[in-house]
Amino acid sequence: MVSQRIKDQLKEETAKIKAQGIIPGLAVIIVGNNPASRSYVNSKKKACELIGYYSREYALPEETTEEELKALVQELNQDDQIHGILVQLPLPKHINEEMVINTIIPEKDVDAFHPANVGKIMIGNFDFLPCTPAGIMELIKESEIDLEGKHCVIIGRSNIVGKPMSMLLLHKNATVTICHSKTKNLKEVCKEADVLVVAVGRPQMVDASYIKEGAVVIDVGINRLSDGRLVGDVDFDSAEKVAGAITPVPGGVGPMTIATLMKNTLTAALKK
Ligand code: NDP
Repeated sequence: MVSQRIKDQLKEETAKIKAQGIIPGLAVIIVGNNPASRSYVNSKKKACELIGYYSREYALPEETTEEELKALVQELNQDDQIHGILVQLPLPKHINEEMVINTIIPEKDVDAFHPANVGKIMIGNFDFLPCTPAGIMELIKESEIDLEGKHCVIIGRSNIVGKPMSMLLLHKNATVTICHSKTKNLKEVCKEADVLVVAVGRPQMVDASYIKEGAVVIDVGINRLSDGRLVGDVDFDSAEKVAGAITPVPGGVGPMTIATLMKNTLTAALKK
């Protein structure tokens, strides 16, 4: 598995820099009791342990104020043991996510959500790449898919996935179309795609009828059904019949997101 290989490499590199006295440190802040967020934070913690990073978790109550959260981030900005700060999203409604993200200094913004890092991605001269899009690019590279001149269609325009994904594909000379909830003839647009990235947040919305024969389908979605099953935004059983390649859920993109976060944490520690 690609994600495992990346983590193994990071483990080796970490052992080397530890001998020089550098221990990469990641602080993860979670506010409230969202079960999905809890499970993501646990996976991140486990990855830190596996690779040998120093990690610290702050589990704050739902009623934490924006000021309290910002004060904690400011404290971590100054903390020499911490190289990366991650605030698990979504935050409770009374907290302005943008304000909190903007408080993280760009050098410790391992999610690459700070406007300074977003701007660098746009220009193509970056320190960190956002974890999910970068993980997807790594999967594409591993699968030896040449993006040059390919038509890549993304469903979803979030700041976390859709928009940065479009930039990374563009940097690889793909022709990129971004779709969203107001897109007309969504199915027809998707059927034009050589590479279809689905980040819509709607369980199994995209079936074979959206997919061109032989297209590469990347399913970013993570949705928990009422029967407890975890599914993507793509109807895998239907889609795999026409797709040339397809990522599964679970597996696929999720583990790559965490592997990239770990990579970014090492980068932050080395830069310091
Ligand atoms: P958002 O809810 O922020 O964005 C969803 C996007 O999909 C929006 O741009 C929205 O359009 C668009 N959309 C919604 N409904 C439709 C529709 N019927 N037709 C076309 N477009 C539609 O989600 P995220 O980007 O944060 O996440 C997307 C999915 O990826 C989720 O399932 C999430 O859990 C998962 N995820 C997985 C990660 C991983 O590591 N694998 C990491 C991050 C997210 P509009 O802008 O017009 O509202």
